[in-house]
Amino acid sequence: MIDPVDLTARLIACPSITPADGGAQDVIEQALRSIGFEVHRFLHGSAPDGPVPNLFATRGSGGPHLAFAGHSDVVPPGAGWTGNPFEPIIRGDLLYGRGAVDMKGAVAAFIAAASGVPQDSGTISLIITGDEEGPATHGTVALMDWMAERNIRPDMILVGEPTSNKRLGDTIKIGRRGSVNMWIDVPGTQGHVAYPQLADNPITRLVSALDVITRDVLDEGTDWFQPSNLEVTDITVGNPATNVIPSAASARLNIRFNDRHRGDDLVDRVRAHLVRYAPAATLGAKISGEAFLTAPGQLSELVASAIHSETGLEAELSTSGGTSDARFLSALSPTVEFGLVNATMHKLDEAVAIVDLQILTRIYARVLTSVRSERKPTEQ
Ligand SMILES: [Zn+2]
Repeated sequence: MIDPVDLTARLIACPSITPADGGAQDVIEQALRSIGFEVHRFLHGSAPDGPVPNLFATRGSGGPHLAFAGHSDVVPPGAGWTGNPFEPIIRGDLLYGRGAVDMKGAVAAFIAAASGVPQDSGTISLIITGDEEGPATHGTVALMDWMAERNIRPDMILVGEPTSNKRLGDTIKIGRRGSVNMWIDVPGTQGHVAYPQLADNPITRLVSALDVITRDVLDEGTDWFQPSNLEVTDITVGNPATNVIPSAASARLNIRFNDRHRGDDLVDRVRAHLVRYAPAATLGAKISGEAFLTAPGQLSELVASAIHSETGLEAELSTSGGTSDARFLSALSPTVEFGLVNATMHKLDEAVAIVDLQILTRIYARVLTSVRSERKPTEQ
């Protein structure tokens, strides 16, 4: 049996700030090989965003095939830690170090769980990237390509991001909102404020367009998602003179949207409002991720019942929060996310409760064993 606390500590000791590996995937590979996994590793991309270390590991054969997805990279520690962020230390009931909850602790808990599960039925895989906290271009997407080339497709995917809010087990994520950023540039004709007929004020056009854009109700929300929301995040003119109508004005906005929308459609929708007031405006856009939802079903029920057995909690099925690599993986198979308490993630003195690592290991082990027993009747 692998001890999740010891393995978490050994992973924290690897300074794996995206896209550096710091030896983290060596530690993961060695632990997985010791419990019968076949491990494949490859680097993808080049500087400055890469090369990114990626790892795919698998054990067993046949169905059901459950994959655990996670990352070995961490965000930079920042200054002001009590100790060294890459020197794991236990103080009281907590294990401190960068990545303790996001998400070396969950990776270690899953490996520890797999070490206690019989090897003889079903397939268990791990999809581990070193590029989740960065641009995410050379990580999970590259791993999915690698899997597609080998016809590897899990039946379900459990992502170990820290989804719990106050107590371990209070929240499972079954979807995430999408996100799109847009940049608006409105040209005008510069002139003297006393002679407006000789000028064309881009601010007037931009403000009129933004007024309509921000009052557009995108939807009323769904059973599983809050209403989509648009926020203007910047308006820039930069005109130092009091008597000059400026020649240009620009703005930036972000929309967090639910599964009623696709990013492209929202860009078209904003453009339609914009051109009514500023026909010469240009609109740039970047979709960070589409919304996704794994409707409540077998996987979320398995995870919820494992949580209930170990903690007594009824987990909330949530779609709140930022994006994660589940946005890519959900295209493959039903995908849910469940992991540690997120209170200290990305912060100074990130720490995980030792007891939480032990309970999370038991929850993951229950998921692994119940996934098999549920499948057996249909296989006979
Ligand atoms: Zn994470």
